[in-house]
Amino acid sequence: MAKKDFYGILGVPEKATGEDIKKQYRRLAKQYHPDANKNDPKAAERFKEISEAYQVLGDEKKRKQYDEMRRLGAFDSFTRGGARGGGAPGAGARGGQPGAGGAPGGTGNYRYEEFDIGGLGGLGDLFGSIFGGNKGQKPSGPEQGQSVETTLEIPFRVAVTGGKVPIELEVNEECGACSGSGAAKGAKVQTCAECGGRGAISFGQGGFAVNRPCPACLGKGSVASQKCDTCGGAGEQRVKRKVNIAVPTGVETGAKIRLKGQGGRGQRGGPPGDVVLTFQVKDDPDWERDGLDLIVRKPVNIAQATLGSKVSVETLDEKKVTIRIPPGTPSGKRFRVREQGIAKDGKHGDLLVEIAVTVPEKLTGEQERLMKSFAQSVGMEY
Ligand SMILES: [Zn+2]
Ligand SMILES: [Zn+2]
Repeated sequence: MAKKDFYGILGVPEKATGEDIKKQYRRLAKQYHPDANKNDPKAAERFKEISEAYQVLGDEKKRKQYDEMRRLGAFDSFTRGGARGGGAPGAGARGGQPGAGGAPGGTGNYRYEEFDIGGLGGLGDLFGSIFGGNKGQKPSGPEQGQSVETTLEIPFRVAVTGGKVPIELEVNEECGACSGSGAAKGAKVQTCAECGGRGAISFGQGGFAVNRPCPACLGKGSVASQKCDTCGGAGEQRVKRKVNIAVPTGVETGAKIRLKGQGGRGQRGGPPGDVVLTFQVKDDPDWERDGLDLIVRKPVNIAQATLGSKVSVETLDEKKVTIRIPPGTPSGKRFRVREQGIAKDGKHGDLLVEIAVTVPEKLTGEQERLMKSFAQSVGMEY
């Protein structure tokens, strides 16, 4: 998600003249042009960024709109955080609430992800989503709660056999102390004078009206004579919620599940958000998988590998399986045990036992004598 500070990108002051901006753009465009930086993908990216910034700042009309947005505070965090604060917000809870003007939690800040400029052509959308605030969901209407996206790391065995994994999610919940009203006990609740009960305030003028959650009532449309101590009047709190996740059998890294209604609480009667989990299967030192087949490494000693031997392995569900390896089995050779792999959707994978020949680090006197006589018999010098 790029957050665009076009002035920062071009390295010009906000007061720069159109001519200065043009000059600076030409200088940078020359420096970062892909033709001049054939093996540097970073330069190409920078070039794109520069072009994007110039498309706006180099056009008097677009620049005016952009300046207006900045003035209204839609770009607060750009100027605070410095230029090009690329990269997604940290892992864990990341809201995805579409519709302009709906900052869940009523923090009064826009959610910048919605305004991402996708490539060069996306400016129309950018302005549309910011200035078209009145078309979209009104902040005073019901709004779905925050959706939480997170990654869930699971042990290899759980991914194969399925099972339950407990996780802790941080979500917005109704404040227990005030039952979500935001009012202290015994306080009077009145229509918010600031927004007249709408829960939102319009900024700007002319063709551009921007709706933002009302800072006085935090978007609720009403205020209490005394705010709830526990939640400070917001009517909700961040709480940790424990959820047991049922991991489907044979799940793979990247698979997602959606827990409907397990996300943050809705605003003004809206439904709760969802939780989207992405599975990340941990590596296991002994096991690997290939589709539905399971691969297990089985160490054997040199005598077993040389003379052939019965070898016993334990399957993931702790059954014992015995295989016979023939004389002269090299390291890395695999033996297939039918239908002892992953069972999923009526199909059954196999278990592949991969032989790993181990060399003894220490020998007893007797073993050393025997090894030496073996060495002599093959004419080895040592
Ligand atoms: Zn208000
Ligand atoms: Zn409260």
